[in-house]
Amino acid sequence: MSTVIGIDLGTTNSCVAVVRDGKPEVLVTSEFKQTLPSVVSFDERGNISVGWAAKHQEYTNFDRTVASIKRRMGSRYRVRINGHDYSPESISAFILQRLKTDAEDRIGEVVTDAVITCPAYFTDAQRQATKDAGKIAGLNVKRIINEPTASALAYGIDCTEPQKVLVFDLGGGTFDCSILDIDEGIIEVMSTCGDNELGGNDIDNAVKDHFLAEFEEETGWNIGLNYFAVQRLIEAAEEAKIALSDAESYEVFLPFLVTRGTECRHLRTTLTRDQLEEIAQPFVDRAMDSVRRALVDAGLGPSQIDKLLLVGGSTRMPLVRRTIEGYLGVAAEEGVDPDECVALGAALQANVLEGSGDLLLLDVVPMSLGIESYGDVCVRMIERNSRIPIKCTQIFSTATDLQREAEFRVLQGESSKASLNRLIGVVTLPEIRRALHGNLIIKVSLGVDVDGIVHVEALNTETGKRVSLDIKDSMNITREELEASIKETKRREEARRFKEHWDRTFNQLEHLCTHGAKLSLLLKDKDDRKILSREVLAAQKATKGGPFSQPEVVAAACSRIFAILSSIDPDVRENRYLMY
Ligand code: AMP
Repeated sequence: MSTVIGIDLGTTNSCVAVVRDGKPEVLVTSEFKQTLPSVVSFDERGNISVGWAAKHQEYTNFDRTVASIKRRMGSRYRVRINGHDYSPESISAFILQRLKTDAEDRIGEVVTDAVITCPAYFTDAQRQATKDAGKIAGLNVKRIINEPTASALAYGIDCTEPQKVLVFDLGGGTFDCSILDIDEGIIEVMSTCGDNELGGNDIDNAVKDHFLAEFEEETGWNIGLNYFAVQRLIEAAEEAKIALSDAESYEVFLPFLVTRGTECRHLRTTLTRDQLEEIAQPFVDRAMDSVRRALVDAGLGPSQIDKLLLVGGSTRMPLVRRTIEGYLGVAAEEGVDPDECVALGAALQANVLEGSGDLLLLDVVPMSLGIESYGDVCVRMIERNSRIPIKCTQIFSTATDLQREAEFRVLQGESSKASLNRLIGVVTLPEIRRALHGNLIIKVSLGVDVDGIVHVEALNTETGKRVSLDIKDSMNITREELEASIKETKRREEARRFKEHWDRTFNQLEHLCTHGAKLSLLLKDKDDRKILSREVLAAQKATKGGPFSQPEVVAAACSRIFAILSSIDPDVRENRYLMY
């Protein structure tokens, strides 16, 4: 059985891990880093780079670089690059594919299966979008699990004591708080609450606004609309923020920040930790609102939390740690790496699915689910934080006289008003008996499976006719788009392999040419020498316009040079290293 990898598909950074010899471990990327920036960049010819290479282009190639796409998952948002519309799923797929390739390189085998994590508060459409992204990347997504649950898994393997754990996960773009009940290797999610629009990036932006205001006060120049200057300020803001997790103050110097005519201005300022904390406080307060809500949902007070797990890069800020520790009255657990534990937990879950390990995972529905009823009412069928898998059935009847069909609109959200909730799918029962309203009984079942995917079924009790819907791809990405994205990814993968192959051929050709030039002296026959130098010249000429200008000519020249050199040099003949 091939290895199942665990992937933390993060807003800012992603990470991949596996379990080896019973221990979860992070697989380093091809840049030998633990995490990969979740950034995708295209050049003008459509070539794609992912990770650090893309991050470095964030502001030099800004209109072709996509970051924080996770915030758009499950929406109809499309990013237009080089005249092509990319869905959030296909951009995320580029990141997943890169993680898959890096993992394959590290473990030396083809990877097909994965467990991917998502924020606990992700809606059904967002979860499905994550699954679709995996599919586009050529992965069989065996399970989608909540990030805090994954972190607790990473932490929970050694836990035997019954305890309540609060997972506080503040990353670059999202915040999640989950309260878990852990007992003898069983982890039950008691409640989850979060904010898909809150993270370290917001703090960076607020610090950038602070720099902008300072700059304007000092120079009288408002540079808020200068894209390049603003990008540099955001980078400097993040740098300062990270430095201030250890230092008390940080010097910021951005030379030649803006030029107008012959005049230019630099930014030189100091940011102290106190100033940063004042700027960051509103964001931390927002996170704390979610913490309070999660506690209420779990029926617990702050003092009933036994352990605190900090997850996500932003929890390295002393203000964040102090605030949550102070509120709960417990010190955060040490030894859990905030950047790695989600991927490690995903790997542990993957290991369980492979049949190894003995962790049992109980998860919950992140948002309530219901059906729209007459008068803008939402009939709630599955309560938020119900344990999954779950299935509920309810009787509905027709709302108007002589109805020909019955439509059931599935809603997700906490409001009793249908219009204030999110519509996630519609099932229509056709050809029902024309009757006065309220005279026809229809049974509707709503269920959520272990992946958090919603299934709905409507049953006409008179005829036995059923219609059902798995709420998957319908809301965010069309089937055609999904198919097209899968094809596109395959095409790119083939192109990458093709390029790799020709890169190798080209290198070997260079090698052969140098070798050939030296060895030609050994050739006794003048004609042979002539043939060899003619072939070397032809090959060099064929590669003048770049290695791919005439690949077939290069390949043919390679094999002819190889044949000649083999006849005079046993090394060439015996060592296949020169062969492409
Ligand atoms: P994640 O999404 O978990 O990878 O977290 C990324 C976020 O963590 C970004 O906003 C980073 O700026 C932030 N971050 C990383 N390291 C630190 C640090 N030492 N102090 C404060 N924030 C950090």
